[in-house]
Amino acid sequence: MLKIYNTASRKKEAFTPLNPDCVTMYTCGMTVYSFTHIGHLKSYLTSDVIHRYLMLKGYRVRQVMNVTDVGHHLSDADEGEDKLEVRAKSENVTPWDIARRYERLFFTAIEEMNIVKPEIVARASEHVPDMIDLIKKLEENGYTYMTGVGLTYDTAKFKDYARFAGLDLDNQKAGFRVDVDDDRRAPWDFALWITNKPNHIMKWNSPWGVGYPGWHIECSAMSRKYLGEQIDIHTGGIDHVKIHHTNEIAQAEGASGKKFVNYWVHTEFLNVDGAKMSKSLGNLYTPEDLKARGYSPLALRYMLLKSDYKKPMDFTWASLHNAQNELVKLWRFFEAAAHVLPGKIDESYREKFSAAMDDSFNTPNALTVLSELIGDKSVDMPAKLATAHYFDRVFGLDLENAGYALSRLEEFQQIDPYDKQKAELLLGGRDAARKEKNWAEADRIRNEIDRLGFVIVDAPTGSFVRVKTYGKAGSVSTGL
Ligand code: AMP
Ligand code: ZN
Repeated sequence: MLKIYNTASRKKEAFTPLNPDCVTMYTCGMTVYSFTHIGHLKSYLTSDVIHRYLMLKGYRVRQVMNVTDVGHHLSDADEGEDKLEVRAKSENVTPWDIARRYERLFFTAIEEMNIVKPEIVARASEHVPDMIDLIKKLEENGYTYMTGVGLTYDTAKFKDYARFAGLDLDNQKAGFRVDVDDDRRAPWDFALWITNKPNHIMKWNSPWGVGYPGWHIECSAMSRKYLGEQIDIHTGGIDHVKIHHTNEIAQAEGASGKKFVNYWVHTEFLNVDGAKMSKSLGNLYTPEDLKARGYSPLALRYMLLKSDYKKPMDFTWASLHNAQNELVKLWRFFEAAAHVLPGKIDESYREKFSAAMDDSFNTPNALTVLSELIGDKSVDMPAKLATAHYFDRVFGLDLENAGYALSRLEEFQQIDPYDKQKAELLLGGRDAARKEKNWAEADRIRNEIDRLGFVIVDAPTGSFVRVKTYGKAGSVSTGL
């Protein structure tokens, strides 16, 4: 039985969907004003694993992800200007140019990491009428008031406002900037519709005047539109608990009077060398930075799967390097067995895998089951393959297509093409020596190929060479 750790209760709870046939899931998407970094990807991998595992268990899944292209100010609590507009001004382009550029890069990044695209992707700027409808409902229900900034949510009217995040509001007063809006009744009240920024480029008409939506309303409006008033699972990064998700609940439940989400899943942060990832510290890495150093997006996927999403993780180049080496070993194992037809799934390993995954998606334990399976001499190769391929419907590591994955990985390695040609020529000489049973010569050639940085793979269909080590962690100073 699947259990999910629910942030709302701080407990693992048995999973029962509202509708037995189709699980509804909402994932807070990117604010598309800058590059997707590997920390973001840690969060999106969690929702991918959930999505994939639910499908493996036979559920249909309807997942919605928003794209924030308007309304997210420099701080989550409305401080400063709209992130996209600031970026657009600094580059002298429109906010739409910024939004579409980074949205494209985000979807490329998740595709390269084999993250399943949600069934529905919804841009905030294309859902303003839905947001206005929801705000009207909140207004009718008496949850709003007008300030000099715009229409504001009156958190005092929502009696459970502090409960979800366990906020101790009086003691946290100091953390909220009061000068965001002098007319606010409480510092944690938040903007629903902003009208005091006449120079904002993205703007719309509304019953409260020309303006644009506050950041939090989009998620409540989109989940309501595509999934209904109540949903099964809501995911996001841990930083969203205190403000964004607290406000989403206040909006959704203020409008419907019903419990909004049954299972809240939050991913702990990816840090770098013990510090928060940030541009100013120069420790913010994108998938492109990884590729430039010879690391595949799937090595990042594997590294993240090795840690529990409920725990923070420290990124070092050494950990990525080790993860890639382990993944390469896995790929080599499956590549060498590519001529074997998969047989029947081994039931005892399937059970072990399900036990790990049912324990709130414990991927590190599930990966341990995979390595036990591979090392188990009592399981024949056809069963091993079928079982590993079954696991890989969640892991998403291209195990069934390992030869191709290895070829793709070679594309990231800045190897000298002449060295590869030399190694391939030498390989021809080795084959000839072996035919003549000249083992000494065959060994000598193998060593020479090794010195060039390649290994020989003796597959039943013939021999070929592959790069020996992938990635350049040895030449990177950070973390080593
Ligand atoms: P944002 O675009 O800032 O709304 O972030 C998109 C998603 O990535 C949110 O769910 C964040 O909580 C999450 N996120 C941001 N930084 C990290 C990080 N370093 N580690 C894990 N998740 C993160
Ligand atoms: Zn959200």
